[in-house]
Amino acid sequence: MSETEPPNSGNPPPPKTSGLAAWSLVLGIASLVLLVLCSLLPLAAIAGVFCGHKALNRIKSSGGTLKGKGLAIGGLVTGYLGILLMAAIVLPSNFRAPKSAQTNECILNLRLIDSAKHQWAQEQKKTSADTPTMQDLMPYLGGPQGVLPLTCPSGGVYTIGPVGGKPTCSFPGHVPP
Ligand SMILES: [Zn+2]
Repeated sequence: MSETEPPNSGNPPPPKTSGLAAWSLVLGIASLVLLVLCSLLPLAAIAGVFCGHKALNRIKSSGGTLKGKGLAIGGLVTGYLGILLMAAIVLPSNFRAPKSAQTNECILNLRLIDSAKHQWAQEQKKTSADTPTMQDLMPYLGGPQGVLPLTCPSGGVYTIGPVGGKPTCSFPGHVPP
């Protein structure tokens, strides 16, 4: 053994499996399993409600030969509860968006653009059929230097339109009242 030889140079330790790599695989598989389970949730709830109704009908028409009314009612209640909970989770994101602060901000932008259009038309001696660009309107948006071109907070695209018409936003629901 030479003293100048660095330790382990001729005899590298056997590679070990990284604990993080194993966790990565476990979590990846778990995410797939959860995804499948979540997409089956609505089906399970609907199937539960369906079975509950069918069972109640059969028990009713069996004239006492079939039991399990309590089970069927329990299934119906939990099934409907599942559907309600899913609706409570899924619906707000679709229905609350149009009335959000972003919508109000966008409508304010549209009003600013509209009034800037009229100022532009007056100062530049334009008619109601002329259509300004955002660049044309910049001096009339927020003081003598103007502000940056107004943009929709939700990513909609503004159509300035002719002076005689109202500016619009391409984002659904961004319509001034
Ligand atoms: Zn908008």
